Amino acid sequence: MKVFKFGGASVKDAASIKNVAGILSQFANEQVLVVVSAMGKMTNLMENLVHAYFYNNNNTSSILAEIRQFHYQILQELDDSSKMQLYNDVDNLLLELECMVENPNNLEDYDFVYDQIVCFGELLSTRIVSNYLVTQQTRNQWIDARNFIITDNCYRDGKIDWAKTEHIIANRLRPVAEKSLVITQGFIGRDSVNATTTLGREGSDYSAAVFAYCLNAESVTIWKDVAGVMNADPRKFPFATLIPELTYNDSIELAYYGASVIHPKTIQPLRAKNIPLFVRSFMDMDAAGTVVSNTAKSLDVACYIHKAPQVLFELSSRDFNFIVEDTLRGIFAMLAENKMRCGIMQNSAISFSFVTDVSETRIAKIKGQFENAGLNCKITEGVELLTVYNGVLAQTEKLTAGKQIYMQQSTGNTVHFVLG
Ligand code: ASP
Ligand code: MG
Repeated sequence: MKVFKFGGASVKDAASIKNVAGILSQFANEQVLVVVSAMGKMTNLMENLVHAYFYNNNNTSSILAEIRQFHYQILQELDDSSKMQLYNDVDNLLLELECMVENPNNLEDYDFVYDQIVCFGELLSTRIVSNYLVTQQTRNQWIDARNFIITDNCYRDGKIDWAKTEHIIANRLRPVAEKSLVITQGFIGRDSVNATTTLGREGSDYSAAVFAYCLNAESVTIWKDVAGVMNADPRKFPFATLIPELTYNDSIELAYYGASVIHPKTIQPLRAKNIPLFVRSFMDMDAAGTVVSNTAKSLDVACYIHKAPQVLFELSSRDFNFIVEDTLRGIFAMLAENKMRCGIMQNSAISFSFVTDVSETRIAKIKGQFENAGLNCKITEGVELLTVYNGVLAQTEKLTAGKQIYMQQSTGNTVHFVLG
């Protein structure tokens, strides 16, 4: 069995969905489970809806209208002979979403509310893809991933309950997937009280890996709008080239520091069962792309990974106390509690610095907590994290030239810079 993942860019409009159908038709004789993300930038729009709803401002109806309009437009373009079956499921989902945000919000947990709403992006996209395939005589089974991907209740960052997930996928989903093409959602799951959870932004790759692990799939293919994994982001660095082969470890390192082609959590489950990962272009079926496997050779090209914007935190002790193990324990506890990740970090006797992702709600909150704990907390927004592997000195110098270097750290053949 193969697992395919199609991200937002691959289903961003009607033409793209037709292209996906074309790709799937080439695998008509194989067992395939397809994981699909929300269409285009729909998740961002859903995030706006969450914000408007949570803070009870008046924008919900205009955002809902935009969401409805976006999906309708695609349906109309897909529907060349007005087959009503395309519309029904989508209408039901839109109605469900509208009912949900109709009543004023009285819930306190932003992350919980977020997951209950944002999941609609994936539910809508998969209904549209699945129903469109049916109109093209491609039989398939739409399934709700929330019945199979079981997580804890850490909303927006659900952790997989592997025992339950593996059991239910092996027993309930496998027999279905052996008989029929399956279309399901990335990014979403559910917890033990049946609330929807999400796996973190861009988490659909990870969903594909979880399905593959539990199904003992022969491979996972992530279909992208780029040729494969590159040594730098081609939109930012003109010298970027394709990396044809990568080891699991190298790909984890690249993804962790911001190479946005693969979600960082994706690789671990695949490595555990030696399942190869193909990253291929959905625009060029003949191109080989990148294969991530245990037989690949270690990375020997230079890689430049740029992650921005990031936020730099510089903590120092207020009372000339040293920042010792105890203080660090407190700092890390607060980071974990706020679900914040340190990109890179550095400490001295009296200071501790780290970079983290931008977050509307978390930055101000944790700053307050640090200050309450007796720390000075300086925040610099809009910094960039540049990670260089096997760097060529001249190239690295070019990328850092004229910028303020807030932090620089090197280990082996890797150098990280925090630049402003
Ligand atoms: N739709 C989600 C997001 O945009 C998940 C994904 O695309 O992987 O973050
Ligand atoms: Mg996406």
